[in-house]
Amino acid sequence: MNDTAAATQTSDNMGLINGAVDWKRKVLAGGWVSANEGLDVREPATGDILATVGVAEPDHIRQALDEAASAQVAWAETDPDKRARILLEAARLLDAHRGELVPWIVRETGGIAPKAQFEINASIAELRHAASLNYHEPGALLHSPDPGRTSFARRVPVGLVVVITPWNFPFVLGMRSVAPALALGNAVLLKPDPHTPVSGGVMLARLFQEAGLPDGLLAMLSGGASVGEALVTAEEPRMVTFTGSTAVGRRVGELAGRNLKRVALELGGNGAMIVLDDADIDGAISCGSFGSFSHQGQVCMATGRHIVHRSVVEEYTRKLAEKAMTLPVGNPATDQVALGPIINNRQIERIDRIVRESIEQGATLVVGGRRDDPYFYPTVLAGVRPGMPAFDEEIFGPVAPIVEAEDDEEAVELANNTAYGLSASVQSRSFGRAHALARRLKVGMVHINDQTINDLPQIPMGGRGQSGNGSRFGTINNIEEFTEYQWMTMSAEAPPYP
Ligand code: NAD
Repeated sequence: MNDTAAATQTSDNMGLINGAVDWKRKVLAGGWVSANEGLDVREPATGDILATVGVAEPDHIRQALDEAASAQVAWAETDPDKRARILLEAARLLDAHRGELVPWIVRETGGIAPKAQFEINASIAELRHAASLNYHEPGALLHSPDPGRTSFARRVPVGLVVVITPWNFPFVLGMRSVAPALALGNAVLLKPDPHTPVSGGVMLARLFQEAGLPDGLLAMLSGGASVGEALVTAEEPRMVTFTGSTAVGRRVGELAGRNLKRVALELGGNGAMIVLDDADIDGAISCGSFGSFSHQGQVCMATGRHIVHRSVVEEYTRKLAEKAMTLPVGNPATDQVALGPIINNRQIERIDRIVRESIEQGATLVVGGRRDDPYFYPTVLAGVRPGMPAFDEEIFGPVAPIVEAEDDEEAVELANNTAYGLSASVQSRSFGRAHALARRLKVGMVHINDQTINDLPQIPMGGRGQSGNGSRFGTINNIEEFTEYQWMTMSAEAPPYP
């Protein structure tokens, strides 16, 4: 057996997170180091404690920053082919270990197994696309007024990148920043959400360790807001990528701005799906149900408003309610369900309030509206109008608010009547009509005859309005996000100056 085969066998036979390395009550700061304070990881469906990770302390953060700063210098100079091979090995290991990782994602996030498989598949794709970035080092040979002087611009890594992620899709939302940042020669300090420090932190850290990433290049610093703020305000990191709520994103943006850091903010949404009178209603129902009820509606691109043409609203409402009633709700780790638990009690209270207040203000409860903690049943609300919480707020729960529109003009007005601008869709059998309408929607992403939750590694993912700050994730944009220009000139002789 040659060395590579031996290494491969060891990696594949060993659990990535189950038993291989002791990461319990620890953080990764150079190596796995013990923490005084533990963070219990609770399974939302049962309340059971799945594991305890460490809460990063100021000393850990300092150590991680120092290690990252020194490791990054050599990493930036490492043959891009070698960097790419580590990312491809991570993709291979991820595929090989999905049997171990999927149940963790299911139990920790409360999502169903296909959602966990999606996180793994999308992360493998992110890794492969990121590996290819190494072979596209864009630069420019610049015009020089002096023919004896060569003038060019090259892209260099930004250096240290802080990655802060939420709990809903913790693995892939970490991977979409970690993989391209590393591929392009940066070091990363990852802070996962306290609900999901294993899927959003330990798994990524262990995966890259096993794939052969040199020590110090990826730190995993679990904890809450104070750990996040310590990283955002630390001197060394040049960039912050943040995925989470608009309120926290605003705070992170302020702190990053004050400390002169580049910041990529991917924030909340309130997606609209417009259903025109010539739509395939059954196709629209399939899309609308997926858009509002996937992962219990806890998706930034979820369909938050179904804007339906008056002439088809009755049929659409009836069929969507029928569909909602067929969706089983329960513990995804033990039962075949379509919807799992809501992440925490605060979120259930919020969903409940939005539904109740909207009904008080005139909306009609067609189906659902029922909570059985930690579950909230798929809910369809009809007669929703602007001013009601179900229209105005990002619900982040399994609720489909239906809003009636008189014509195409009103549909556009209603869809744009939100501070957010992440994702939208239009259902119509007339491609030209749908296209004309889609172009007028103030969103970062829009789909004709599809639902609002769509993502691929190669697209410019991001939102307008309060859904972000103009940053975009995705293969091509990642070069712009995670590197910066350096202008360089070379002259054979120093020019004479007056
Ligand atoms: P959140 O904003 O509460 O938390 C996100 C992360 O920020 C967590 O890691 C949290 O610990 C950290 N954090 C909290 N306060 C901080 C502070 N002061 N400084 C630094 N870090 C801090 O978001 P959430 O509730 O976990 O996630 C739900 C939100 O995320 C929704 O609004 C959803 O739409 C959005 N989201 C957006 C996208 C996208 O790509 N646009 C994707 C997924 C989720």
